[in-house]
Amino acid sequence: MKVLLTTLNAKYIHLNLAIRLLYSLNKDRHQGLSFKEFTIKESPESIAQFCKDFDIVTFSCYIWNITPTMAVAKLLKEINPEIKILLGGPEVSYEYDDIINKPFIDYIIVGEGEIPMENFLNNYPDVSNVPNLVHKNANNEVVFIPQSVTFDLKNYAGINPYQFDDPAELKNKVGYIETSRGCPYKCEFCLASLDNKVRYLPIETIKSNLLYLINHGRVIKFLDRTFNVKRDFTIDMFSFILEHHKPGNIYQFEITADIVHPDIVKYIRENVPPGVFRFEIGIQTVNQKANLEVSRKQNFDKTAAVIKQLDDIIEMHLDLIVGLPLDEWEDIKFSFESVFALHPSELQLGFLKFLRGTPVRDKHEKYGYEFDPNPPYQIIKSDFLSAYQLEQIVLLEEALEVYWNKKRAIHTLKYVADKYSIFDFLHQLGVYFNSRYDFHHHTLFDVYDALNNFIIENYQEDINLQLLMTIDYQLNYKVKPQQRYLPEIDKSLKSELILNHKLDHHQYRFVIMECNDVCKSYFKNLEENKYLVVQYSGTDKPNYFGIN
Ligand code: SF4
Repeated sequence: MKVLLTTLNAKYIHLNLAIRLLYSLNKDRHQGLSFKEFTIKESPESIAQFCKDFDIVTFSCYIWNITPTMAVAKLLKEINPEIKILLGGPEVSYEYDDIINKPFIDYIIVGEGEIPMENFLNNYPDVSNVPNLVHKNANNEVVFIPQSVTFDLKNYAGINPYQFDDPAELKNKVGYIETSRGCPYKCEFCLASLDNKVRYLPIETIKSNLLYLINHGRVIKFLDRTFNVKRDFTIDMFSFILEHHKPGNIYQFEITADIVHPDIVKYIRENVPPGVFRFEIGIQTVNQKANLEVSRKQNFDKTAAVIKQLDDIIEMHLDLIVGLPLDEWEDIKFSFESVFALHPSELQLGFLKFLRGTPVRDKHEKYGYEFDPNPPYQIIKSDFLSAYQLEQIVLLEEALEVYWNKKRAIHTLKYVADKYSIFDFLHQLGVYFNSRYDFHHHTLFDVYDALNNFIIENYQEDINLQLLMTIDYQLNYKVKPQQRYLPEIDKSLKSELILNHKLDHHQYRFVIMECNDVCKSYFKNLEENKYLVVQYSGTDKPNYFGIN
């Protein structure tokens, strides 16, 4: 019996841990088992052609791949009506009736996959009594025997899910590793809230698999929902990583910042080199009423304090969710401005999604929510935000992505946040950009032309804004770009300064701007200098420094 474990990843660089784990657990008893990954960008036809000669094809399903997965499954059944199609994963584990009733779907595994998958493979084709397997009987009635089972993670002792991958390939991918399952919190919009028992894999296995990824991978992402639940475990893992760390590697963790133990902060400050760790922190909202309404615990003051203590060492990726119950326009503005003030490396503004199985989906009518019935089930409107307001925040989010997260106008936006409302600025900039350019197809010149014209139309008096924006433009090119926006100092003064300061004009190109005190305060080590020099090597990001 030939069985394929497969999935459609969102991007080529992603790896799917679930199919590797299921393969590792079952390969010895089932010689015909294999696994293979595709991406959602590949054509359903080519994926179906690859899969068509298996007896059973199992797909690992998530919110980002369910639509193309269903297209592949349908096509596959048309090509080979004898093939059996089994789905598993979070996207099919709840409210699965419409999916199992599709004629091209034969089976669904609900919940944690290890035990039902093993049962399924061991009993196939007589699987009618397999618990947690949804299927259709001879009368086409849906059959499901639920059973509350928890896979013992000790069974992963000695198993390296990446042992069958080409080690050389791991360098180009994100290496996912889980040390635990479950989350102690109960945020009602999140599927992890349904599994509150935190269970750990055997520590020796975690360490040997981590070591394997450290040696062969580059970006290593921990899948744990709250990595820092246990102080000793967290410090032990950080120490292990630093002991074996290879230059160039990056380690990403999802953490809950307000419970970071002071010993962890101290450990990081004393031991972790800058740029090696990245923390993803879900803030979601600063509005405590909204937090409570979705059973979410958070102390933003503590969160902000921890972020400030560590953000010179750790790259911070902060998340906000737009659309939570009780969060109105002004609340979202307040949350956004509070979080922006922390100057995270990345600020992601997500929109509330009504995931199958989550409590927030079950009680959506209570708050007048309307959401897209198709994945990703995103909010359309609620009692707290109109559809128009949500559309406006989408434009803000696009501007945030282009100008802040892509680091095109960092100094400009820091200044805006200090002097004006960054929420209003990015909202209006998003509206402006959207009416004249295309957020998904534009050039780098478009990015700066839009910002420059927007500033001139709306903030004509503010010379600092124009100056910072011009410097941000100059800092975003490896090769000295054509002069645009505010001019640099005049040519004869520039030649004199280059000569006086012995700047190497054979090796580098320079732009020299005169800076006032306000402008200087947004750049490091410029306090005593009158001029800011941008130095281009032509191959690397430009440097800047000050001269008089
Ligand atoms: S949002 Fe984060 S903290 Fe809340 S339940 Fe989900 S994983 Fe846990």
